[in-house]
Amino acid sequence: MQPLRTLSLWMDQLDEPLCARPALREDLTADVCIIGAGYTGLWTAYYLKRQAPQLDIAVIDANIAGFGASGRNGGWLMGNLLGEDRLLATLSPQQRRASIDLLHGIPEEVHRVLQREGIDCDYRKGGVLYCAARYPEQERSLRAHLDDLYRQGMTEDDYRWLRPEQLEAQLRVNNAYGAIYSPHTATIQPARLVRGLARAVEALGVPIYENTPAIDWLPGEVRTPLARVRCQWTVPAVEGYATNLPPLGKHQLPVQSLLVATEPLPEATWAQIGLSQGQAFSESSRQVTYGQRTADNRLVFGARGGYRFGGRLREDFNLDEHEVELRRYLFSELFPQLQHVRITHTWGGNLGMARRFRPHMLCDRQRGIALAGGYGGEGVGASNLGGRTLAALILNQHNELTGQPWVLDNRPLSSLASWPPEPCRWLGYNAIIHSFVHEDRTLANPASAPWRRRLAGSLADFMEGFMH
Ligand SMILES: Cc1cc2nc3c(=O)[nH]c(=O)nc-3n(C[C@H](O)[C@H](O)[C@H](O)COP(=O)(O)OP(=O)(O)OC[C@H]3O[C@@H](n4cnc5c(N)ncnc54)[C@H](O)[C@@H]3O)c2cc1C
Repeated sequence: MQPLRTLSLWMDQLDEPLCARPALREDLTADVCIIGAGYTGLWTAYYLKRQAPQLDIAVIDANIAGFGASGRNGGWLMGNLLGEDRLLATLSPQQRRASIDLLHGIPEEVHRVLQREGIDCDYRKGGVLYCAARYPEQERSLRAHLDDLYRQGMTEDDYRWLRPEQLEAQLRVNNAYGAIYSPHTATIQPARLVRGLARAVEALGVPIYENTPAIDWLPGEVRTPLARVRCQWTVPAVEGYATNLPPLGKHQLPVQSLLVATEPLPEATWAQIGLSQGQAFSESSRQVTYGQRTADNRLVFGARGGYRFGGRLREDFNLDEHEVELRRYLFSELFPQLQHVRITHTWGGNLGMARRFRPHMLCDRQRGIALAGGYGGEGVGASNLGGRTLAALILNQHNELTGQPWVLDNRPLSSLASWPPEPCRWLGYNAIIHSFVHEDRTLANPASAPWRRRLAGSLADFMEGFMH
């Protein structure tokens, strides 16, 4: 197995020794068995145990807490959900505003827990900047997106346009056309959050068994190599690893995202770039880029990866030269002074993409299953909401968490939308991604004729339509 410290920059930065907790060796009876010690599983355990200390909860993980996306992500803690515009579309304006406020409140809720539990994960609420900087079409699409957000009931306090000279006060990118700024995002050191959460959950009296894969799960029983857990509730919290636990893989595709981190950069370089408040940033292309300045002054920058035929998980995240150089090219377009900077860490991970690109929080009361996922690369904040919501559902509460359009209460697993079988998944997913890459290449080339630019954009729009 890959040494745990090499899983990501974040795991490498941990001060603690990275040794696994004991595996489950004897049969167990629990009220709730949580499969997966990432954010979703641990937040669920945390909120459940705080509200109902009498519950016996056990968490098992195939590896160690934070082995999955939770120990590897880009550290954007966002106050929103992927696809929330479509999820909220059926609500009245008042209901919609209440849902939006719930989402925007996620970073503060995480911050409250960090303070309560003494978890230091470099939380900085500097907001997020979505920049138009590489080609003029980015400004058009960002402005159209901003109009959409206002139509949905967001205000200038939630999202606002920054002209290039306003953006400069926060971030100086080459050739800026402007940016959308939103205050509802924080940046964090992801591994410190997940490892700190694991300790907080243990301190509440929830055991975590590591190196304990679920090899089978049925209503009321989870089987692991050495022992079984009999339980009233099962919470499969494996997001990007859903193919490991049939039939979950039908509903959630494992998709990769890949990152690089530079060496710590000198103050003089950061004085040129900015990002002094811990802002998250991206450039607005369909390559899905995301970056942050870390607490130790590195640039961490990621972009979308791929999908493997049959949902095969990627295990080896030693990025090849092409994968590294694509990310270097994308961040050097924004920061030409970083073109030859030393990259010290490269890594990636599997995340879960739900059909129609909408997250879900589901409770099957008959079979005792509760799960949240399909966050599609926006799961750091969403998993906190997921954990709170699953705890409320299991405790049979009816409150603002459980009344949301992404919550499917008292519904079977089969009510989640399914991806079509192979080879359609692979062909479809890759056709969409290729149209995005083709669009980006065409638009980034100033010599591309206007008709080529329009065609590339229309094709990518058309393909994106399929995703939803
Ligand atoms: C490279 C990358 C960058 C990302 N960047 C961001 C970002 O900046 N902002 C954002 O909001 N989101 C981001 N995401 C998404 C976000 O990290 C995830 O949505 C979130 O961490 C999911 O948490 P989770 O607990 O549901 O799953 P995970 O953290 O993946 O945890 C699942 C756990 O289940 C365990 N497991 C798997 N199979 C089994 C089994 N059979 N039995 C027992 N245990 C099992 C795994 O070992 C793992 O520990 C990113 C994801 C990746 C991969």
